Amino acid sequence: VFSHVVRAPEDPILGVTVAYNKDPSPVKLNLGVGAYRTEEGKPLVLNVVRKAEQMLLNDKSRVKEYLPIVGIAEFNKLSAQLIFGADSPAIGENRVTTVQCLSGTGSLRVGAEFLARHYHQKTIYIPQPTWGNHPKVFTLAGLSVKTYRYYDPTTRGLNFQGLLEDLGSTPSGSIVLLHACAHNPTGVDPTRQQWEQIRQLMRSKALLPFFDSAYQGFASGNLDEDAQSIRMFVADGGECFVAQSYAKNMGLYGERVGALSVVCTAADVASKVESQLKLVIRPMFSNPPIHGASIVATILKDSNMFNEWTIELKAMADRIISMRKQLFDALRARGTPGDWSHIIKQIGMFTFTGLNSKQVEFMTREYHIYMTSDGRISMAGLSSKTVPHLADAIHAAVTR
Ligand code: PMP
Repeated sequence: VFSHVVRAPEDPILGVTVAYNKDPSPVKLNLGVGAYRTEEGKPLVLNVVRKAEQMLLNDKSRVKEYLPIVGIAEFNKLSAQLIFGADSPAIGENRVTTVQCLSGTGSLRVGAEFLARHYHQKTIYIPQPTWGNHPKVFTLAGLSVKTYRYYDPTTRGLNFQGLLEDLGSTPSGSIVLLHACAHNPTGVDPTRQQWEQIRQLMRSKALLPFFDSAYQGFASGNLDEDAQSIRMFVADGGECFVAQSYAKNMGLYGERVGALSVVCTAADVASKVESQLKLVIRPMFSNPPIHGASIVATILKDSNMFNEWTIELKAMADRIISMRKQLFDALRARGTPGDWSHIIKQIGMFTFTGLNSKQVEFMTREYHIYMTSDGRISMAGLSSKTVPHLADAIHAAVTR
């Protein structure tokens, strides 16, 4: 009965790892998936995470009972404080509801399903380009997806005029997806002044902001700084959705830890929204897992562990910034044609190189370098040892 099923293509990002794993070459390099690697090219478990896990293990009072539908209350409260700021009036006034979800993706999906059921507008505008999973998550949740201009390939920067024009011509009340910081895949973020203009335009048209925060702390190395865009929108008292992920900033990728927060205009609205979020979650995954969120709560509630985390987080962010500098210098040393300054200007885990799919294909075939076909490379997968190999490959790809 299933013989008619056609083979689906590999996921464009996770499929890069599948191809990489099949390549026997000793010089192969995986710059596809956005996962942090050490200078030795190894995955990193933060020391503070190991410490939290040990504490959890030693606590014999812990059991494996189901969590409530919305997850661990303490985790939710601490997550809201992390993203909105501990002294956020919205939290103080109980206008925020936060529910534990399955990392960033699950938080986006739960938020989108709630909007599809309860919000009067069913269209979400996403930046062009954006993370490849966004359109699929929102479409399957029942929203209709349109794009707004974001990236300008000629300047390799923000197409701010295009963005304002496109958001300015959306129907009033439309949902707008915004990357809180470290835009994926471009590494291009609005300046603070530009954020302010975006905020004013969106509020004047009653557009609903849905923030995706997958890289808090990874852009600048500072958790508060990377939440500024969100806090500007919350400070004006308006509504806001936020999907938070701990995959990158705590290195908890496979633990699937995240949260969805909905900022409302009044406490009783927030509590009704939460009651409906439970109806979305219950038939989807019933209730979230315990382990990862317990790690996060253990770290966030203890000031010493929190400080330790910020130091380890900053070290990851700094290593990525240093990889940008090294790659830029290596291309300059080779006299590679073109202006590569965007490598050091772009923010976060990725560089949007500007290489086209033919050049990417060449680099994979001849140099065993794996990356997405849009020319995005994960800087977190590079090391001082592998930068020369990548620079050689880019040089060959653009001069052939
Ligand atoms: N949003 C963006 C922009 C991302 O880059 C990612 C991860 N690549 C996610 C959301 C979701 O990641 P996760 O579900 O692993 O938290």
